[in-house]
Parts: sequence; structure tokens; C-alpha cells
Amino acid sequence: MSAELLGLNIDTFGFEEAVNRAKILIDGRKVSQIVTINPEMFETAQKDNDFTNIIKEADMVIPDGVGVKIALKLNGVNTERIPGIDFAYRLLEEAAINNIPAAIIGAKEEVVTKAVDNLTKKINGLNIVYCHNGYFEDDNKIYEEINLKSPKLILVAMGSPRQERFIYNAKKVLKPALMIGIGGSLDVWSGNIKRAPKLFRIIGMEWLYRTITQPSRIKRIFPTLPVFLIKSITKRSL
Ligand code: UDP
Repeated sequence: MSAELLGLNIDTFGFEEAVNRAKILIDGRKVSQIVTINPEMFETAQKDNDFTNIIKEADMVIPDGVGVKIALKLNGVNTERIPGIDFAYRLLEEAAINNIPAAIIGAKEEVVTKAVDNLTKKINGLNIVYCHNGYFEDDNKIYEEINLKSPKLILVAMGSPRQERFIYNAKKVLKPALMIGIGGSLDVWSGNIKRAPKLFRIIGMEWLYRTITQPSRIKRIFPTLPVFLIKSITKRSL
């Protein structure tokens, strides 16, 4: 199940089905890429053909932001929103249950270290075989280090589009694994940034909470979100 939104295909099969498909990708014979797409990424795609191709070639594109859910709805498609952070956490739980080695890359050194520490305490049996901060120049060196540890699930938290490019280029050099970009999730898992209270999350207003608590994010909402919604109705190609 998928739906086209402004020239990009979004998978609309919901959380549980996305988890099932991700598990198949983990067992696959190639490097797979899952993109958790939000309105900002549509905006980037508008300006950057290479980024558009990365999304088009991804194995799964799941609707992360509530903006994407609304845009789909305005186009007559009802779908469940899949917050990237919840999805990634669930994949880590699945990895732990099934003895799958995982890697986490991204954020500042103290943030990634603390996040890995917290995750390993919370998720019984989680095996993080490689972790690295997200501030490096030489991607090839990181690919080589990853290959030495052979993780099968790799979470990359370097913000978009940096993380999507890092994952895309990894396809040529890494051993088979599932890779997913998870934006600012490590900041939350480390305890540095608080997630919105459950009520905000249930009503799809997590973005509002994040904007109030981190005013620097306002440029991510305005004008990106309204412009994205208007374009999605008028179906103007990005
Ligand atoms: N980051 C990184 N390397 C970089 C730039 C950013 O590892 O070169 C990290 C940053 O520390 C933060 C995350 O990427 O943890 C970006 O989070 P952001 O909230 O921008 O992501 P979003 O969820 O909005 O995509």
C-alpha cells in the first residue's frame, strides 16, 4: 500500500506492517534504507534532485510528521502516522529479541553515549556492537569501522538530509543491513530533550510542543508546513 504525494511514494500500511516489513529487510541480502519523511524533507527534495532520487530508491518511506498525514488525508488517503522515534525504538526491541546486532551513529559524543547507555538498560538483550558520534568528515572510515562489527540494524541520527545521504552511499560499501535515519531521536533517548507529554503525542501536536520548548525550530514549521499543505492540495509538483 502506498500513495503518491508531490511526486514521492509514501508507504501507507501503518505501524505494525511497517515493522514486519522492516524485519524482512533486516534479513535481506543488501543494504536497505528506510526514510521517515516529513514536510521539511519534501522541501529539500524540491531543491535537490539527488535527494529526490534517494527517497525514490528507498526501500520504505514512512510518514513521520503529522503534516504528511494531513497532506495525505487532504488527498483522500487515510493513514497511520509512524513517528520515526517510536518505530526505531520498536526495531531495537525486535533486534534484542531476535539476537540481531545493532549500531547507532549520530549526535554529539556525550549524547550518543548516554543514549546507548539508557537504551541498553531499558531493552533487555540489546546488543549495540558499534556506536559513533555524528560529527565526522570521513564517511569511508566510518563505513570501514561498521563493516568490522557487522551490525544488521543501523540507526543514523545526523539530521536530514545528511543522514539520508550517509545511508544511501553506504549501500555501495556496507555488508547487508537495514539502515534508518532517525533525526533527533538520540537527543530524546539520552534524556537531553524531553518528548512531548502523551496528550500532545496522541492528538498529533508533538510539533507544537517541540516548537514551544525549542523556539529555534519555528522556521521548520513556518512557512514549511503551510506551504507544503497548500502544494499538496493543489498538487503542484515540488
Ligand atoms: N547531527 C549530527 N551531525 C551533524 C549534524 C547534526 O550528528 O553533522 C545531529 C544533532 O546532534 C542532532 C540530530 O543530528 O542530534 C539532528 O536532529 P534534528 O532535530 O535536527 O533532526 P530532525 O528530527 O529534525 O530531522
